[in-house]
Order: sequence, then structure tokens, then C-alpha cells
Amino acid sequence: GNRSLLDSQAARESNARSYPRRLPLAIQRAEGIHVTDMDGKTYYDCLAGAGTLALGHNHPVVVDAIRAMLDQKVPLHTLDLTTPLKEAFVDELFASLPAAFAEQARVHFCAPTGADAVEAAVKLAKIATGRSGVFSFHGGYHGSTHATMSLSGSLHQKSDIPGLMPEVQFLPYPYAYRCPFGVGGEQCQQLSAHYLRNLLGDPESGVRRPAAIILEVVQGEGGAIPAPVEWLREVRRITEEYGIVLIIDEVQTGFGRTGKLYAFEHAGIVPDILVLSKAIGGSLPLSVLVYRERFDVWKPGAHIGTFRGNQMAMAAGLASLRHIRRENLPEQAAQRGRQLMDRLAALQRGTPEIGEVRGRGLMIGVEIVDGDGATDTLGHPLANPALASAIQRRCFQNGLILELGGRHSSVVRFLPPLIISAAEVDAVADIFAAAVRAELH
Ligand code: PMP
Repeated sequence: GNRSLLDSQAARESNARSYPRRLPLAIQRAEGIHVTDMDGKTYYDCLAGAGTLALGHNHPVVVDAIRAMLDQKVPLHTLDLTTPLKEAFVDELFASLPAAFAEQARVHFCAPTGADAVEAAVKLAKIATGRSGVFSFHGGYHGSTHATMSLSGSLHQKSDIPGLMPEVQFLPYPYAYRCPFGVGGEQCQQLSAHYLRNLLGDPESGVRRPAAIILEVVQGEGGAIPAPVEWLREVRRITEEYGIVLIIDEVQTGFGRTGKLYAFEHAGIVPDILVLSKAIGGSLPLSVLVYRERFDVWKPGAHIGTFRGNQMAMAAGLASLRHIRRENLPEQAAQRGRQLMDRLAALQRGTPEIGEVRGRGLMIGVEIVDGDGATDTLGHPLANPALASAIQRRCFQNGLILELGGRHSSVVRFLPPLIISAAEVDAVADIFAAAVRAELH
């Protein structure tokens, strides 16, 4: 059963293992939005590989593509050599991007994690500009390697590692609910943009012009925080004015999750460098950069890795991306997201412990607070990680897998597969509402 496997792994696996601590199940089978554990219990999976499984588990489109590839004796491993599969994959990827971006873009295959692609993006921006600094945002998350951890806007993620990448300047993200400027609503985003402008424009700020600004259009690990479109446009204008490379990290938001194929499309902007991973491989490991041609300043071999160009991930990713586009899953994600947000907002009325319900598409967060009106010195409601964790645990007991994120891990995050049905959204919302009520009474 679950227990013996969990005990065995706890005895042998690194102390850094994370998810099994909060989600004590051993998964036997998985299909669609469901996973089944060793004891035969089935769960709704609203973590979905941390947003990787756009089509859910074992979607027939993905499984058939992998099977067909095996039957045709397509090579399983090729380094980054040329194959027809890779050609087809790149065709589909470029066709999926806004024309204004794709027309003059290059793709770079990375060793297949989000973090490696972010590493490559930062290296490329440094080479292209000859500058060394990077601006990143409070609450941002970009990976767990040395450089990407340096960009993490959470001390919790990097606290005990000495000597990370220097010259990272952290800026306030337009997180209106806990605005660092102590103001709410639109004022928060305006001040955030204003602050950035001032940092660059005033030599007395003491901060050198960076190579790049890296941001998530919706912060994921930071607690499902969407950036307002006006703010995104202003950051795009500023980076253009100052010749700063804008790196948009869509590792988690890409491929329909936010209700558009790419989250930057909400703002009608395009990045200089786009970072993609997670859903791009259709459940298998894959990551790429797509960047404007003029930034193609790499020397041959300047960012390499044995497992770039993983053929099976390309087969699965190609099938998955085709399906997402053909079935207009971004639009479906937008609809289901609104449905889930409406349910959560209804629960919020009369539940002061739910401080905020927010998100875009199927990237949704519920911020759990004390609920008695207590605030910190900036006037922000006190986070309630104990209650968030209790709600997560009770949802788990009742067959719903959710993850926590955000400041103090007090945000319950919903990242279901994009194929979630309307009935499944209701079932998920029912379990969550029951868990919240049970914990509060
Ligand atoms: N960027 C973002 C926005 C992410 O959400 C993640 C993973 N959660 C990463 C980068 C890192 O990706 P990986 O875990 O594949 O290294």
C-alpha cells in the first residue's frame, strides 16, 4: 500500500524531496484529471505536474503519438541532431506564436528543464548587451540552479546558500493585495512601474542598467498573481527605451493555461526572449528559448547539454500542442477558470479567512488570512499558513490534490489540466468549499 512505499522512500530519498511530504500518496495509475494511489483511492489532480499536464494524464493524443514514434523506429536519443520530428515540432511551435514574434525568431533547445532554459536566457542577454545585472521581482520563481535561484524573489527558496549570482536587483511586483508601497488597486502597479523608471533614470539610484529584466506574466510559485496588462505594457516600453532585454518566463503560464496560448498575449506585447518548458513536452521533459533573431549572438556550442532535443518529448509535445490549438483549449481554460473563480468568490463572501481569490484562466490562487482584520505594519492582512495547510490536508483526505504557494505558503493554488470539464470544476469546488467550512467550524 501507500504507507510502505512512502516509508521506504523517506528512508532512502534526499531530505530535499518536497511534494511527498505534503501529498503522502504513492501513485499507481493516472488518467485525465485523476490519479489513483496504491490503496485504490482516486484523487482530482489540480497540481498536474506543477502545471505541466495541460491535457491531463495519459491523454490518448499524447500516448498515441509516443506509440507511433516507437513503432516507426524513430531514434529515442539524438543529442541536438536534425530529425524530421524536430522539424515538425519547430513548425508547430512557430505557428503557435504571434506572427510578429515568430517571423523573426530563433528557437534554442535546452537541457530539458525550465531552470536550464532560464540559465540560457540570462547568459544570452548578458552576451547580447555586454552587461551583467538582472532585474527580477519580489515573489518570482525561475528554478533551482545557482543562477536561477539567485533570481528567486523568495528568501525561503535560497536562504542558506552563500554566494549566489551577484547583481540581481529585486523589484516590487504589482501584487496589489500585499502592495509593498502600501497602496491598493491600480496605484500599486503604477508605483511599481514608476519605481522601475526611477531606478533606471536617476543616476543617484546607484543601480546600473541591467542586461535583462525577467518576469512571470502570472507569478506561479509566488501565489498565482497576474500582472496587470497596463503594467506589462509599461515594462515593455521601459525595456525598449533602455535597451534592456525583456525575458518572459512562461514555463508555467505557457500553452493555454491563462486563457491565451501565451500569457504575454493578454497584454499584446512580445518578449525579447521567451522561456518555455513544462507543458511544451506534452508530459515529457523539454524546454526551449524562443528569441528575436537579433539576439542570436551565441557562438556555436555556447549553451549545450546532452539531452537537448529529446525526440520522445517532441513527439508528445507536438501532438499536445496541435491538440491544444485545434480544440481551442486556451478559450476553454478561460471559461472553466471563470467558472472556478465564480465558485471560489461565492465561498469568499462570508468567509473572511479567504482574503483574495485571483488568477487568470486555470491558474488560480486563494489567499488564506487570519480573517479577524488583523494586519501587519503595512496594513496587509496577516497570512495564515497554518489554515492554508490544514485546508490542503483536508482536501487531500477528501480526494483533491492542491498545492500551496505564495508569501508564507498561505495561498492555495489550483492548476488543473486544461481539459477539466464543467462538472469536474464543480466537484473540485465542492470538495474545497467543504474543506474550508470543516476547518473553520
Ligand atoms: N520558471 C517558472 C515560472 C516555474 O514555475 C518553474 C518551475 N516551477 C521554473 C521556471 C523552473 O522549471 P524547472 O522546475 O523545470 O527547472
